[in-house]
Amino acid sequence: MNYPITLNNGVSMPTVGYGVFQSAPEETAVAVETALKAGYRHIDTSAGYGNEREVGEGIRRSGIDRDDVFIETKVWVSDYGYDETLHAFEKSAAKLGVSQIDLLILHQPMPQHFERTLNAYRALEQLLADGKVRSIGVSNFMPHHLAALRAQTEIIPAVNQVELHPYFTQSAVQRANAEHGILTQAWSPIGGITFYPGWGENRKSVLEDETIGRIAAEHGKTPAQVMLRWHLQQGRSVIPKSTNAQRIAQNIDVFDFALVDDDLNVINALDRGVRGGPDPDAVDPSTWKLEIPEA
Ligand code: NAP
Repeated sequence: MNYPITLNNGVSMPTVGYGVFQSAPEETAVAVETALKAGYRHIDTSAGYGNEREVGEGIRRSGIDRDDVFIETKVWVSDYGYDETLHAFEKSAAKLGVSQIDLLILHQPMPQHFERTLNAYRALEQLLADGKVRSIGVSNFMPHHLAALRAQTEIIPAVNQVELHPYFTQSAVQRANAEHGILTQAWSPIGGITFYPGWGENRKSVLEDETIGRIAAEHGKTPAQVMLRWHLQQGRSVIPKSTNAQRIAQNIDVFDFALVDDDLNVINALDRGVRGGPDPDAVDPSTWKLEIPEA
């Protein structure tokens, strides 16, 4: 059920992960336990989500061996810099209750302070060399950020996690990732950002898209399952979020049907080229004024 993919450093990662952005700490442990019992073996969190401790608790409560769960988390921008990022690992690992993190990524490129970003990435390289993390990567890096990173650091990221759903397909980012053997991992894979409450008026939820609804009906699946399948068949990893047991189970029940090429092409053509999330060129420590507490 976990359909692993091999990252560019040989580490195996389940392609379908379980996301916990905006999952309240008090519901996260139960939700993570539910997800693991439903078959997920990969959790995506972040220091910035404020729920790493509950993710660790959910993993322990599930009774599933820690080594059988792939844990991915992110360093927030306020912890960028070489020593700061080494310490960010210690904070995240302690909150999660683990000694090693499977995939640690930089949450944003922070181009206004790129020297700090580079030093943060160099700290990830050191953590990898020390065996404290099994793989390293980035998030929200656009092709120009990737180029600048590659020019000044040693290790190619294993993963670039970016906003990606049928209304925002980021083909240039996908091409740049593929060119360097970086796995594209889709955040908001079923378009959560197109309907988060309070994130702007007049958004059209991709879950309500008529074309996706038609394809879903033809396959006897839901729109969310069709979108997840669209990602997987195009080689991307996905990390759908839900705190509802039925939808958690639904989002990993995507391995018993296949979209045809025409379905994939029709969904690709829904791209509107409009980002729902923050502009990666603009995010810096003042954007959310978020500081990551000690463990
Ligand atoms: P998403 O997974 O595309 O969508 C989540 C939303 O869809 C929630 O409102 C959820 O509500 C609903 N939902 C889930 N399954 C559903 C289904 N089968 N049918 C109908 N509705 C369903 O959006 P996301 O949370 O933005 O993205 C997923 C993960 O990506 C996050 O949790 C986080 O781990 C990561 N992420 C990363 C970044 C970054 O900057 N790197 C940014 C955003 C997100 P219920 O909970 O009520 O089911």
